[in-house]
Amino acid sequence: MSESWNKRTQAVHGGIRRSQYNEVSEAIFLTQGFVYENAEQAEARFIETGPDEFIYARYGNPTVSMFEQRVAMLEGAEDAFATASGMAAVNGALVSMLKAGDHIVSAKALFGSCLYIVENILTRFGVEVTFVDGTDLEQWKAAIRPDTKAVFFESMSNPTLEVIDITAVALLAHEVGALVVVDNVFSTPVFSRAIAQGADVVIYSATKHIDGQGRALGGVIIGTKDFIRGTVEPYLKHTGGALSPFNAWVMLKGLETMALRVNAQAESAQKIAEALEGHPALARTLYPGLKTHAQNALVQEQLGGKGGTVLSLDIKGGKEAAFAFLNALTIPVISNNLGDAKSIATHPATTTHQRLSEDQREELGITPGLIRLSVGLEDAGDLLADIERALATSQA
Ligand SMILES: *Cc1c(COP(=O)(O)O)cnc(C)c1O
Repeated sequence: MSESWNKRTQAVHGGIRRSQYNEVSEAIFLTQGFVYENAEQAEARFIETGPDEFIYARYGNPTVSMFEQRVAMLEGAEDAFATASGMAAVNGALVSMLKAGDHIVSAKALFGSCLYIVENILTRFGVEVTFVDGTDLEQWKAAIRPDTKAVFFESMSNPTLEVIDITAVALLAHEVGALVVVDNVFSTPVFSRAIAQGADVVIYSATKHIDGQGRALGGVIIGTKDFIRGTVEPYLKHTGGALSPFNAWVMLKGLETMALRVNAQAESAQKIAEALEGHPALARTLYPGLKTHAQNALVQEQLGGKGGTVLSLDIKGGKEAAFAFLNALTIPVISNNLGDAKSIATHPATTTHQRLSEDQREELGITPGLIRLSVGLEDAGDLLADIERALATSQA
């Protein structure tokens, strides 16, 4: 029955597990362990752990399990494994399935830490990686080989907001039996239908829109029961990337309001992007919801026309103008999270993407004037007025 619920109903009631007190709000089981009634029960549980049985919080915990089941339901998947952060999820999904000698294909426009895992860690253990421009299907076609084990990409890239065609890449990957692993943070669980569109494994940093209020780190890997329990769980339960029960509870509460928040934030982002497009202080206004965005047709198909909650502004005048803009803002804070209720402005070239070489940044379109703006829950008119005033300051 719950499978036929709308996403908004699932996000409020999915996966709920009540104790003997029948509490309304999800309980926080802040416990690392669980008492066995006798030695025989302990022995039996280590042989086979039932769905409502727990051993140790690194393996699983009732509050964490509620979060996993709710997210899996929302994504239309069989199962999920919650992790301590989004990066623990990316690392867990990739490392658990790969071994020395394997080949993967990855989009090159990746969040800095994702790039580090693919480029520095996987290769150190003998995994061969081919990088492609994720928006160019010809490059995917040329790079995927009969022995390719997986493809990896961010469905909407950070910070230049390129959108990758999940269905088309999945078609190519599945021809050779490669798993399609999607970091879906920017698409958000609200607008995503990634599993239905061909993704085998979907990853979220719950730190972003799922919490949505900048409080806790968390992550989740979503996929088939076989992949989650057979491949991911053995790796994560022994290597210690588990989500804390308290953070799982924060995320459960976040999921209840996520659709309202993310829809409101995306609506404001669309308004602000439309109002700023063509502004004389801007060299580029990047937002997937704009008709002028290079992949807007794909956004209509893949995300129901929703461009997400983040936009990027390329300010004329380079770093100096970008810094003047940041320092003149009075509502968005200068920080580096996204999906938060508070609008957040980031200068990727000197912060999140500082580690890249100048050439790499140029290739990815991360110019010295580029500002990433995560649109929060403030009034869109207030935000726009503040941004326009700061833009004027940036050109003074
Ligand atoms: C933030 C982010 C991550 C990492 O998540 P953490 O919770 O900070 O570890 C991974 N991928 C993308 C696209 C992100 O934006």
